[in-house]
Amino acid sequence: QRKAELAAAKDPGRTSDGHLVPLLANIGGPADVEAALEAGAEGVGLLRTEFFALSTTGSEEAPSESSQVEAYREVLSAFPGRRVVVRVLDAGADKPLGFLSPADEPNPALGMRGVRTLLQHPEVLRTQLLALTKAAEGLPVHLEVMAPMVADRDDARAFAEACRAAGVRASVGVMVETPSAALRARALLREVEFLSVGTNDLAQYAFAADRQAATLSRLQDPWHPALLDLVAMTAEAARAEGKSCGVCGEAAADPLLACVLTGLGVTSLSMAPSALSRVRAALATCTLAQCRRAAAAARSADSPEEARLAARAVLSGE
Ligand code: PEP
Ligand code: MG
Repeated sequence: QRKAELAAAKDPGRTSDGHLVPLLANIGGPADVEAALEAGAEGVGLLRTEFFALSTTGSEEAPSESSQVEAYREVLSAFPGRRVVVRVLDAGADKPLGFLSPADEPNPALGMRGVRTLLQHPEVLRTQLLALTKAAEGLPVHLEVMAPMVADRDDARAFAEACRAAGVRASVGVMVETPSAALRARALLREVEFLSVGTNDLAQYAFAADRQAATLSRLQDPWHPALLDLVAMTAEAARAEGKSCGVCGEAAADPLLACVLTGLGVTSLSMAPSALSRVRAALATCTLAQCRRAAAAARSADSPEEARLAARAVLSGE
């Protein structure tokens, strides 16, 4: 109760002219709930369930349905009346789980990961979906479930079908983390109710640059106009379909970029709790029209540096 009051005490995310952009938290499990509420998160935009799976099983065996119900219920009960977006297990590549991920892949980032893994292990996906449904039972929360690493319409369709088969009572969505998903976002939206752009992986796959390779940081900059184009394309598809499109990658945590993403048409921003107050403050200083002009200016640039400067010039009224 006290925690919910804490969250309500902070202003919601909005531009200076009142355009609402819900500011949500990225969390890894019950241990992060307090920080999210204290920072005024308006809900959870990304619950990364693989960290929880790692901590409860050491990654050698799948977490039981009952242990999952308990952990999810702890998170869901902390956000009455709010959205909580739970991502089903994103195993593989930078997040290997022993019970799911093959050990001998030559190129794990381009191999079995995310929804691909779960569709190969339908019992693991089903157990997680059943646990989520049970955890939400009787709670006044808006549960949303989404799949990571969706490449195309058929991935989205298979995930939506698995959710229906498990009797999930929640909004069903998919993450946009591959260029193919951004390019065909409208087709994905005919299968699911919302999109959430994971800019960390979307950058990795758009630039063919390993997200963990420090030497390639130039190609992981979310200000890169090529990445902004992909986000714009995704947000535009959602607008055309009358559905929502959030961003839950690191890009959302950059206050200036958060304004640009808003201008691109993104409908919510999810980030580490520690970033929420600065993003809230930045959004409150500009109008939606300024955000749109800043987004257009950034997309007209040809490098991340130029995009940043162009957006800053618009938003500071230079
Ligand atoms: C992303 O890829 O942007 C994302 C939010 O997911 P993760 O960082 O967990 O892969
Ligand atoms: Mg990702």
